[in-house]
Formats: sequence, structure tokens, C-alpha cells
Amino acid sequence: MEKIELVIATMNAGKLREIQAILAPLGLKILSLRDFPGIPDIVEDGKTFEENAIKKAAVVARLTGRAAIADDSGLAVDALQGRPGVFSSRYAGEKGTDEERYQKLLKEMAGTPQGKRGAAFICAMAVASPTGKVEVVDGKCHGEIAFSPRGSHGFGYDPVFYLPERGKTMAELEPEIKNRISHRARALENLKQVLPNFLKENL
Ligand code: IMP
Repeated sequence: MEKIELVIATMNAGKLREIQAILAPLGLKILSLRDFPGIPDIVEDGKTFEENAIKKAAVVARLTGRAAIADDSGLAVDALQGRPGVFSSRYAGEKGTDEERYQKLLKEMAGTPQGKRGAAFICAMAVASPTGKVEVVDGKCHGEIAFSPRGSHGFGYDPVFYLPERGKTMAELEPEIKNRISHRARALENLKQVLPNFLKENL
């Protein structure tokens, strides 16, 4: 039997590998935007991670004529009422670096005491069919905003995201461990549960 094709709406090789590894048991043929170079950049202008993930998955499914999955993620800080949220990657301007973003966050949090520095990485993951059916799940990883950066693994806000139960920042974790407990891994595990049924009913 022909394998079902699934397009992952990313150009990021690391993300693709992570997604491929988790979805491998489903026996799908995994493609990515690298296989469809004509697809334009999709503007992430939603107010929530879910909206952005759904929009990306739906556009890619329509343009490729295949089922597609897309994610959107970021950091939501309790003391900042969920900011930077969907603006996580643009928090220090369009051209800001990871370090500028987390330094800005540390500055904004400077007056927030221990015990009130809770935060979560959140990832929404959507699957869409070429006919416009969509389903979205999410995954969260809870922690705290540290007082100073530590560690050199990972990317983004990892050096200032502290996991109290491990006594380490996300950037101090070995990548294999981060990839097991991350918001993305958890969203993907949730997606893996609903994907077989979604594909059966909508393709
Ligand atoms: P995207 O969903 O990959 O576009 O991520 C949006 C932004 O959220 C990134 O640019 C990072 O600033 C932040 N982010 C998402 N996932 C992570 C993570 O695993 N560690 C640290 N920062 C992250």
C-alpha cells in the first residue's frame, strides 16, 4: 500500500528531525517545505499559538494538496500576563538576537521576586487536510525565569528558563533530555495520538 504523505511546515532541519523521530512509528512518508520550494513565507499574525499553527498548516495543506502539520511556540511569563507569547521571536525587534531577547526579559523581570517568576514554554501543533479540516493540540513545559543566564545548549530563552525539579536551566540540559520534556515534544506526542484518526477521516 502507498504510504500517506505528510508535509511538515518547516525549513528547520532540527525541528524536522525531531518530528520525524517521534512520528516514525506511524509509517507515514514525511516531507517538508524543502520539498516544496515554491511555497511563500506565511505571516504569523495570529493572537494565539493555536491560530498561527492552524493558519500555517491549512495554507501548506491547501498549496501542496497533502496533509500538513505546523507548529508555533514561545514563552509565556506569568508576571507579564503571558508575554512575550506569540511575540517571543520578535521581543527585541525583528533583528534582535536570542541574547538580546533574554536580556530584555531579565530586565523586565528584575523587580519580580523568587516565587513569582513562573513561566511556561508553550507549543501548539496543528494538522490540516487539503480540504481545510484542522485539528490542534498543545504541549507545555513549566518552569521559572532565572535571575541570570546559564548553560550553552538549546536556543532562544533556554539559558534563562529554570526547571526547579532538575536544578538546571533548559540550556544546561543535554539535548536528548530537552527533546523528551520540551513543549514541542509534548505537543508532538499529543498530535501522534490524534493523527491516525484525523488522516483516516479527512484524506
Ligand atoms: P517558533 O515556534 O520556532 O517560531 O519559536 C518562536 C520563538 O519562541 C523562538 O524564536 C524562541 O524565541 C522561542 N522558543 C520556542 N521554542 C523554544 C525553546 O525550545 N527554547 C527556547 N526558546 C524557544
